[in-house]
Amino acid sequence: MRRLIGILTFISLANLFCLNGQTKIDRIASFCKANEREILKEYFDFLSLPNFALNKEDINKNALFIQQMLSKRGVKSQLLDSKTQGTPAAVYGEVIVPNAKQTIVFYAHYDGQPVNPEKWHPAIKPFLPVFLSKPIDKGGEIIPFPAVGSPINPEWRISGRSSSDDKAGVMAIIHAYDAIVKSGLQPSCSIKFFFEGEEEIGSVHLGEILDKHKDLLSSDVWIIADGPVHQSGLPLIDFGVRGDVNMDITVFGPKRPLHSGHYGNWAPNPAHSTRKGRYFPV
Ligand SMILES: [Zn+2]
Repeated sequence: MRRLIGILTFISLANLFCLNGQTKIDRIASFCKANEREILKEYFDFLSLPNFALNKEDINKNALFIQQMLSKRGVKSQLLDSKTQGTPAAVYGEVIVPNAKQTIVFYAHYDGQPVNPEKWHPAIKPFLPVFLSKPIDKGGEIIPFPAVGSPINPEWRISGRSSSDDKAGVMAIIHAYDAIVKSGLQPSCSIKFFFEGEEEIGSVHLGEILDKHKDLLSSDVWIIADGPVHQSGLPLIDFGVRGDVNMDITVFGPKRPLHSGHYGNWAPNPAHSTRKGRYFPV
């Protein structure tokens, strides 16, 4: 199951940075296996919360849910606001390990794309998560939530808005941390959690949040849990994640085609202006 693969991915990262030895990983994996039903139950509750960033009431409920998940695991948390009033807060948590030489920030986002339920397959609903035997457009069938002790097939899918992008990242990070601690292990590096609430609308205020809380977020490395699982199912680490920048450029030029013999060389050419970074006639 992709969620569990995500958790194992995180665990691999934790191993890379903090822990050593295969036996520790085995202990963590056994913990996940023994608790997968409870982990998935909590995940379904999380997926039931509508999470479009511009719906303030909904997005606040998601932030609160994450804070409660962190608090249950003994992690202190707070909401990080931006300079601009009323924008979705980032949920921040930290585990400071005394004498740790490194600090890792784990990032995921909890908001999702806007949704039109009418465009979904009639058998499934965006905020009513269910297990599917395979993708619904390939004949997948809904599987009732397994009773205690019933097996969970790792090939099942979870249907629900943001079940992949990116509530899966939030859950994988929190539960991986939980699994490490409950397996009787201690990370040797400090861990910071950063869960953004407006990534799907362009992270408009992320820069402000990072600036405003620069000291709190100081670290050695960020790990972004917001990417695809490799088709092989193997843990995957991409180095050098990049974002994008959007801008609107207004280029002024003639309203009609101009004859080159009459206007060539002296009439401003919008293509040349754009290339030279001059967006207004000079
Ligand atoms: Zn995403």
